[in-house]
Amino acid sequence: MSPSDLPSVRLRPEIVALPAYRQGKPADAAAFKLSSNENPFDPLPSVIEAVNAATAFNRYPDASALALRERLAARFGVSSDEVHVGSGSVALLAQLILAAAGPGDEVLYSWRSFEAYPGLVTVSGATSVQVPNRANHGHDLPEMAAAINDRTRVVIVCSPNNPTGTIVTAEEFDAFMAVVPKDLLVILDEAYAEFVTAPDAVKGPPLLARYPNLVVLRTFSKAYGLAGLRVGYALGPVPILDAARSTAIPLSVTGPAGAAAIASLDVERELLARVEVIAERRDAAWQALTSQGWNIPNPQGNFLWLPTGEQTTEVADRLFAAGLVVRAFQPDGIRVSIGEGEAVEKLLRIAADIVGDLP
Ligand code: PMP
Repeated sequence: MSPSDLPSVRLRPEIVALPAYRQGKPADAAAFKLSSNENPFDPLPSVIEAVNAATAFNRYPDASALALRERLAARFGVSSDEVHVGSGSVALLAQLILAAAGPGDEVLYSWRSFEAYPGLVTVSGATSVQVPNRANHGHDLPEMAAAINDRTRVVIVCSPNNPTGTIVTAEEFDAFMAVVPKDLLVILDEAYAEFVTAPDAVKGPPLLARYPNLVVLRTFSKAYGLAGLRVGYALGPVPILDAARSTAIPLSVTGPAGAAAIASLDVERELLARVEVIAERRDAAWQALTSQGWNIPNPQGNFLWLPTGEQTTEVADRLFAAGLVVRAFQPDGIRVSIGEGEAVEKLLRIAADIVGDLP
């Protein structure tokens, strides 16, 4: 019997139709990889030492990663039960969506935003409701509030928003929370929080005491430079996090990953000084691009958004050819991570040539 004669296994059609998570194009050795919002700095020696010392590979890790949760709890002034960790904040997003939404339910978020949201919602069986970003590329929170109905189970707010770099202000967020039903889970995805310099931006952790339906998501992948080890954390009310823990694949934070996260908190000041370097490089690049004539929203993550519209693929190809591997979102724009200084200089030179060709 040839494989084509075999009856096909019955899979969920919506999952079969779902493309797998798409990673940025791999960079060749000579190119700059600016497609995944990674941290360009090498890990600090003490973090590498902590990973090298975590050698009990024959043992399972502590399922609840208590040592790491206690460190995070102390840092944010909450109890360790109000902290949940997972293999990247994307895993926590999946758990939270599964905990609150299923077939017949809706999950609401702004679009364009983090490209993993639609897939995670489909996997849960719920339906995505995408509210278009405003013309300034930021969330339209009043429109999002207006889109809430009886079927809505989760709202995701992303600040800074990937890929546009925009923030939600504290005032906008409070006005939004004032009209959101108290039994509706709101996830504030702050994967890039540490790069924010705008004084009016929302900051999730201090709001937890005020909103019992809020969960704040953060990650060690970006500011702390541990993308390869996969550690994210959620801060929020115990009943919501307990439900997320129940949907989790057990034991997802490995011993070395947990050790690296704790070691990173030990040298946080040094890591945040690096974040400051990236934020300054970002602001200088944004100013230079603005004076070239680009109309780019104020970037508050570790990346820039080039609104290249229909010419997105063409411009991205031009950047690839010049050794800059960026993330293209045809037909909206291009996201460029702020990496090495040399990469930013190269971007600025090419951007000066391109801007004249845009409508
Ligand atoms: N949220 C946003 C907005 C992101 O951009 C990302 C990573 N690109 C994540 C969550 C997930 O990051 P991680 O799983 O590495 O913590």
